[in-house]
Order: sequence, then C-alpha cells, then structure tokens
Amino acid sequence: MAPQFHIPKVQKAAIVETTDAPLKVVDNHPVKQPHELAPGECLVELDCSGVCHTDLHARQGDWPIQAKLPLIGGHEGVGRIVAIGEHTQDSPVKIGDRVGIKWLAYSCLDCEPCRKGLEQSCLKGKYSGFTVDGTFSQYVVSWVTHVTPIPDGIASAEAASILCAGITVYRAIKYSRTHIGDWIVLPGAGGGLGHLAVQYAVAMGLRVVAVDTGAEKKELCLKLGAEKWIDFKETKDLVKDIIAATDGYGAHAAVVTAATGSAYAQAIDYLRMGGTLMVVGLPARASLSADIFFTVTKSITIVGSYVGNRQDAREALDIAARGKVKCYYQLKSLSSLAETYEGLAEGKIVGRVVLNMKE
Ligand SMILES: [Zn+2]
Ligand SMILES: [Zn+2]
Repeated sequence: MAPQFHIPKVQKAAIVETTDAPLKVVDNHPVKQPHELAPGECLVELDCSGVCHTDLHARQGDWPIQAKLPLIGGHEGVGRIVAIGEHTQDSPVKIGDRVGIKWLAYSCLDCEPCRKGLEQSCLKGKYSGFTVDGTFSQYVVSWVTHVTPIPDGIASAEAASILCAGITVYRAIKYSRTHIGDWIVLPGAGGGLGHLAVQYAVAMGLRVVAVDTGAEKKELCLKLGAEKWIDFKETKDLVKDIIAATDGYGAHAAVVTAATGSAYAQAIDYLRMGGTLMVVGLPARASLSADIFFTVTKSITIVGSYVGNRQDAREALDIAARGKVKCYYQLKSLSSLAETYEGLAEGKIVGRVVLNMKE
C-alpha cells in the first residue's frame, strides 16, 4: 500500500509580486490538494531547494524573456511525492519516491526538439520558477513524467545543486567532443558551477586547467583534481599561459559559464586546432564576438549548451551518487532568500546556497 501523507492546506512560500517590490515570505500560501491535481500531475513535499543565478534574473526581470508574476521562484528542489492526480496512467514514479524538480518542469515530448532529445528547448516547454511556480515553497506541483528520481547514496541538499548547476556543466562537458586525456579549460573553476565542472571533467578522464582567482579557490580546484591553475588576476597574458599549460598547442575544449562576452572571445585564442567552445553562461545582455578568421582557420566548433534533458539529469545525479562529484554548499532557511539574492548580485556567495524547506 502507498504510504499516507498528511497534506496541510497552507504552506510557507517566497513570492515575487513585482520585480521591484521586496520579496515576500508568507506562511499561508495555499497547497494544491490531491483532488485538485490533474491526471499526470503530482504533489511534491520539498526537503530543500538550491538557489541559482537564474532565480536572481527571474526576480529582477533583466532577461530578454520575462517570468510570470506573481512568481514563486526556484528550480533545484528535492523532496518526496505525497500525492498523484487521480486517473494518472502508467506513472513512472509512485507516492513516497524521492524526486527532484529541475529547471525544465515540463516538455511535450512530441515536438521536433523533444523528439531529437533537446526537450530543454521544447516548443511548449514549461520552466520551474519562471513560467510555472517553482520550489521556494514547501510543496510544489509537477508532472510524473518530468520529476527526476533521486538515486540512493546522495543527500537531498547535495542533489539539489546537481539538478541545475550539475546537469548544466555535465552536459556541456559531455558534448564538448573531448576524449580521455584531452585538456579542458574551465574559467570560473572555483565557483558554484565551476567546482562541479572540475569534478565531472576529472571523472570523465579529462585534464583540467582551472582559471579563477584567489588562494581559497586555487586550493579547492587543485584538491578536486585540476592539474593546472591560472589566476586570472595575477597572469599578464591568460591566453599565453593557457597555451603553455596545454603542451604548447592550446586546449581541446573550454566550457565557459561567464557572464561577460570577453571570456568567450578569449577562448577562441587559447583553443587548439579543432577545439570546441561550449557556451553555457546566460548573461542578461551580452554578445559572442568570435574572431571569424581564427574560428575558420583553426576549425573551431562553437556549441550552445542549455541545462540538460531527462537523461542528462539521470547521468549527472548517478555520477554524484557514486561519490565522484561533491557539491560545496551552505544550508540556509527560506527566510534568508532575500539576503541570498543580494549576495548573488554582489558576487559574494562561495559555492552554492541550499534552502532547508523543513524549517
Ligand atoms: Zn539554475
Ligand atoms: Zn516538445
């Protein structure tokens, strides 16, 4: 028999009413009741939710596309299924299962991008904490086909950050056309996405050149398995240093998550012949200005990579659950979300922030 869960009528939630109003944390937001769920929908009681830079963009409204308002943000939630809509057919998950809610909340699985495995670019896609309410609440409604089963062997708080940051860098490395023993450059290697990227790259047999700044980040990157370290504030010529660090020929690939256009242009210069630039950052407004002459003559491939599909999510979580990837995070409460946004805006957050939704 399926376990029974008590489902309250109201819950704590952080609500963005307008992009310029202060964030409102309430404790009387209604919980969608089991009988209100449509077939195929499920209700998830959340343990925790990670905070991502995307949440800040949704909150500030500075992207070329706008979030719904009022909005409950959040797209790195982990919890348990406590109810499934009546008349749901062939559900791949059951009540009591531990699952994750990621950025891609729903995809049609039938449009051309979906059929080609690019469901994150679905023509009818729904996005958690952006076009549908997300995980900065104690309960969230999702779809049985799109929640991600969380494997044993990984704590909920750790799985939370894998659901967005982890999937994003994992997929970017997976499609970087690299092979075991190749050199990969990771600018921002000591940050939230970067420190996960270092570990996935090492787990995939790649040799990592970590680019970031400061003694603390240097120590972290080298501890996680980066072979070379370049401090971008100390170097006189970043491109020259990277080429020197990679046998004098340049790197096979770079996964660039930066918010500035210059980091992408630089990559064309330090990649070797036939190298691949993975474009991953989602800055509010920036263009990619690659030198056409060298892109052509060096046979460079430029690839945009956007989070990941359901398979990428399973793979990224599986690698982490087997202990190959550890996330460095600080656990906070939902009421500290506003100050976390301030910290993100000022670039002061080290590692990832995960909110405990149980308190
Ligand atoms: Zn995210
Ligand atoms: Zn689709």
